[in-house]
Amino acid sequence: MKKLFLSLLISCAPFYLQAQEITGFSPEAAKEQIALEKQFDALLAPANLDAWMKKMTEQPHWVGTPFGEENAKWMKKQFESWGYDARIETYQVLFPYPKVRLLELTEPEPFTASLTAVPVEGDPYTAQGDALLPSYNAFSTDGDVEAELVFVNYGIPSDYEELEKLGIDVKGKIVIAKYYGSWRGIKPKLAAEKGAIGCLIYSDPKDDGYYQGAVYPEGAFKNATGVQRGSVMDMPLYPGDVLTPGYAATKDAKRLERENAPTITKIPVLPISYADAEPLLKALKGPVAPADWRGALPITYRIGPGPAKVRLKLEFEWKLQPAHNVIATLKGSEYPDQWILRGNHHDAWVHGAADPVSGMVALMEEARAAGALARKGQRPKRTLVYCAWDAEEPGLIGSTEWVEDHMGELQQKAVAYINTDGNGRGFLGAGGSHSLQTMVSEVAMAVPDPQTGVPIQQRLQARHRAYGGDGEFELYALGSGSDYTPFIQHAGIASLNLGFGGENAGGEYHTIYDTYSHFKRFKDPDMSYGIALAKTAGRITLRLANAEWLPLDFVPWQKTVSGYLDEIVETTTSMRKTTEKHNELVRSKAYELAADPKKNLTAPGMKSAVPYLDFSPLQNALATLEGEAESFSKKDFSTLPKSKREALNELLMKTEQQLTSPEGLPRRSWYKHQIYAPGFYTGYGVKTLPGVREAIEQRDWEEAQSEIEKLAGTLESMAKHLKAINALN
Ligand SMILES: [Zn+2]
Repeated sequence: MKKLFLSLLISCAPFYLQAQEITGFSPEAAKEQIALEKQFDALLAPANLDAWMKKMTEQPHWVGTPFGEENAKWMKKQFESWGYDARIETYQVLFPYPKVRLLELTEPEPFTASLTAVPVEGDPYTAQGDALLPSYNAFSTDGDVEAELVFVNYGIPSDYEELEKLGIDVKGKIVIAKYYGSWRGIKPKLAAEKGAIGCLIYSDPKDDGYYQGAVYPEGAFKNATGVQRGSVMDMPLYPGDVLTPGYAATKDAKRLERENAPTITKIPVLPISYADAEPLLKALKGPVAPADWRGALPITYRIGPGPAKVRLKLEFEWKLQPAHNVIATLKGSEYPDQWILRGNHHDAWVHGAADPVSGMVALMEEARAAGALARKGQRPKRTLVYCAWDAEEPGLIGSTEWVEDHMGELQQKAVAYINTDGNGRGFLGAGGSHSLQTMVSEVAMAVPDPQTGVPIQQRLQARHRAYGGDGEFELYALGSGSDYTPFIQHAGIASLNLGFGGENAGGEYHTIYDTYSHFKRFKDPDMSYGIALAKTAGRITLRLANAEWLPLDFVPWQKTVSGYLDEIVETTTSMRKTTEKHNELVRSKAYELAADPKKNLTAPGMKSAVPYLDFSPLQNALATLEGEAESFSKKDFSTLPKSKREALNELLMKTEQQLTSPEGLPRRSWYKHQIYAPGFYTGYGVKTLPGVREAIEQRDWEEAQSEIEKLAGTLESMAKHLKAINALN
């Protein structure tokens, strides 16, 4: 009730009333900043976004293509014309091009998959023939395998548990999994761990085809021949160039032998369309798939194995390709050695109008406007670094190599990194470091939604409330899937990921149909959400650049981290209960007695009992942090003398680094951050407090306890750091 009342008030109040107080600014400075933002907004022009998108998506531009290089050079010139110092930093990275792709059904009757999406009427970009990158999964290994087929639903851990219950083993088989349910790279990784020798991934029409809506070109969804490309590199181990883990892929860098690169898949894997998948799935016999595994093809979904037998042959041309990052700098007037970094990738799988160009053109328009303000004498106080990354699609390669190359300097100078990627019509999505939550929330109250006119935050909250949520504005935690990963998870730089969406659904992602024509019909036809993104990310960038004291707030941070711990404690308790119940059912043979004797089911075995872990070191550290966070939030920094304020900012810049540990996470030391990481078995999906949480999920109790101690050490060093900050005032 209280919240409803509050938001009614908000909806009646004009914007400027909302924006008077901004964290990091004294009242006088806040007035100036708001006036500056007004000028910034007035400079933004949707026609620029439209023209630049059309230009950058004329031809396919994956890493290593001439058109990709042309785009990089053109962007560099654009940045220079807006007053930036721009350069192209190039790395030599391993990139596989598909030379041979063969998929055949050999039994019970022959069928050869076409592996080619058809051009459609009204979209000339889809008719570029051989210039289009053939559909494949980058960093699949080479291979030529033939075996019986098994349908494994999404191919995630719970699906293999289900198969085990049904007594079905994938050892020596080729699995076929649906897209979705996890990041795609998890599917071949798990399949290989389970002994499969090949993996197919297909797009079921239920997920992004005709079940969802009319298909392209009539509607936005995937037609029968569309194929989602994508990387299957083992990014949860480390992202970036597979041959140079943890260091930059410069021309003369020492490289691993390809055979020894741990992030290339162990088995061949190929993505296919539903036109190519249907004959394969139709030829399967064996048990009918569980109800929630079934898709929308007009067949009875069965699991196999066989009698369908398939042959999969893949050969790649493995070559070093130049990845061209464009780095454009606008030197700060007061603190040139404090950098606000703002990035988006420029490479695409094919044309990439939505992914990534819709975000790239918004970033460029921001940079143009910030440059124009600087020319009029309103140069930002801190340095702006605009980055256009190459080779994001095959595995966050351009950004990762750049961060690895500049690690020392970044940890000294970077204040924050703000990432965007694809963008479309709908609601604000904002994830990132929770110390930035208050600042992002203030910005989201200052930017109007293009369709309704209310602040973008208010629209987002309305949606949460309408669907039963409490409507509180919160950043989501960052897993992986775009270029923020090396910044936050490797270098410990406070990061954000921003974008609009939710009213732009379609099936074009990573297909030949992600074109200018498709975007203009279904994504953000008038580029108004591109402008909203420029306003949002631009404000965040400019506030970070001009703040008198960096706008961090540790109260929401502490609250969020405490919430993660509560979740883990609850999970452990409920695991203990379900384990006890499970073991009781095994002992009393209940599973065996309940099963259909004709179905040849395998009864599950006993599980290790869940011990009582000692979470108190974490609870104590979080209690100390609560006190420090609260006293920080009550301080008035506007009266602090300049020298002390500078010391304060130097410390604030380094807070996110307190959350990293030099030895990193167990078995994946590249990931240094102790609060956020992509899940080892979820891929893009985040695991918060990953060391502790994943040890518990994997039932490794000894490691769980030692990760608790390690995380407590990290939180204690954060508390000490905040204490030093608080002592300044
Ligand atoms: Zn992208």
